[in-house]
Amino acid sequence: MERDYDVIVIGSGAAGLSAAVAAADAGASVLVVEGDTRVGGSSRLSGGHFYAAGTSAQEEAGITGDTADAMFEHYMTLNQWLVDPAVVRRYCDLSAPTFEWLRNLGVVFRKENVYPSGVGSTPRGHPPEGGGEEVVNVLDGLRSHKGVDLVLDSRVTGLLQDADGRVRGISIGQDTASCASVILATGGFGANPEMIEKYYPQAAASGDWGWYIGTDGAQGDGINLGESVGATIAGHDRGLLLVTPGFSRDLEVLLPGWLILVNKQGRRFANEAAPYTVLGGLIQREGGSAWAVFDEDARRLAKPNPSSQAYWVDDVLKRKADEGRICRADALDSLAEMMDVDAVGLAGTVHRYNADVQAGTDTAFLKTQGMRTITKPPFYGVEVKPAIVCWTGTGLRIDAECRVLGRDEKPIPGLFAAGETVGNLHGDRYIGGGGSFGPCIVFGKLAGENAATHSAGLND
Ligand SMILES: Cc1cc2nc3c(=O)[nH]c(=O)nc-3n(C[C@H](O)[C@H](O)[C@H](O)COP(=O)(O)OP(=O)(O)OC[C@H]3O[C@@H](n4cnc5c(N)ncnc54)[C@H](O)[C@@H]3O)c2cc1C
Repeated sequence: MERDYDVIVIGSGAAGLSAAVAAADAGASVLVVEGDTRVGGSSRLSGGHFYAAGTSAQEEAGITGDTADAMFEHYMTLNQWLVDPAVVRRYCDLSAPTFEWLRNLGVVFRKENVYPSGVGSTPRGHPPEGGGEEVVNVLDGLRSHKGVDLVLDSRVTGLLQDADGRVRGISIGQDTASCASVILATGGFGANPEMIEKYYPQAAASGDWGWYIGTDGAQGDGINLGESVGATIAGHDRGLLLVTPGFSRDLEVLLPGWLILVNKQGRRFANEAAPYTVLGGLIQREGGSAWAVFDEDARRLAKPNPSSQAYWVDDVLKRKADEGRICRADALDSLAEMMDVDAVGLAGTVHRYNADVQAGTDTAFLKTQGMRTITKPPFYGVEVKPAIVCWTGTGLRIDAECRVLGRDEKPIPGLFAAGETVGNLHGDRYIGGGGSFGPCIVFGKLAGENAATHSAGLND
């Protein structure tokens, strides 16, 4: 049957552009449709770190012996096996070969930048020179070079489907384009409050503290488009939330070591310097908020630094206390009353912590960074919540070939998905920096290859 393209890719982030390049390399005629006025989506704003095991960059850095097996074991254990093993396995197996593909395409990854990006000591985080923007630029340059068509400012509103269930094209309002395979690469839904409410209640619970760091195009269209042709959804209430005092819409990834976090009982419940990949989850278990407590000396010495410019800085903290946004009191029991936490618990916690600081060991939570005693009034308490949405993890269920699955467990013919719009890859805990961008490239490339093969099969 005559058709406009073999493959149509919806979305031009890391996943969509990887898919387009791979599909073109496999001989398909390809169109990329992008709702925004430029390519790149959240991928362009991203650090672009790539979480992978067994790469040439690791080897150059002297990190030998890391394997897909080790990555798989770590990934599954961290997530208590509450993810789809076959999809995770595919990511682990393809992480190194796809990393090499991207490196060979011209994205620069330096051996000295490979780092342990998550919960675990094995360095698997690979930051590219120029961040996600450079990855987008390299892939988009290749897209253009390979003759892949691109239309911008065109938000896809529907999928065309045959009576037998086969997806055979897209619609943008009244306009249509036909194809043999569609790849949904529309990113997440962080910019869509209704979808946050529906699919990511933990994030919705932070109310107006919550904000999303990515593109406005992250409207969850892939989920809606997929559902309109019978796709199933996986990964409820998943994503990455960073902890914030909610003063402004600034992104600070880490809390300073000089404060302690306490719960309603006035007790510490976490190493405050725990990886950002787990700290939000620990606060979530305390009911979604906690109090950061520190003293006047800590406030006075809190100077801006590369990781803290916006919140944990002396004059900001003073101003927020003057405004009443931070509790300030001359005694710990008054502070406890203002924060509505147990005063006995808080006094005991601070006493133990101060003794630990003086002895040089955090006997409860093993914190090593920036510890200071809490002794000099006035004392401060500021509420913090996991509220900054970095990416969302609920989305379409795919199999290990990137085919979108229907309720009957069968792939919906002609429909593929990759990137943040996929839901059965992420568990309750983020494996680490690069654990979202990496799979976008891995599954983007795989979806492109498989969509091209599927289209070629229909030609035979
Ligand atoms: C600031 C920031 C830093 C980050 N840093 C990292 C990091 O270092 N490591 C990591 O692993 N992850 C990181 N992430 C997350 C990661 O970058 C994203 O999960 C990933 O880039 C998503 O890629 P994608 O291709 O799936 O979606 P996107 O890059 O968001 O692309 C989707 C595109 O689809 C378009 N689109 C949506 N709906 C339609 C429609 N109906 N029709 C046409 N087009 C449509 C959108 O406009 C968008 O351009 C970061 C995210 C942000 C925002």
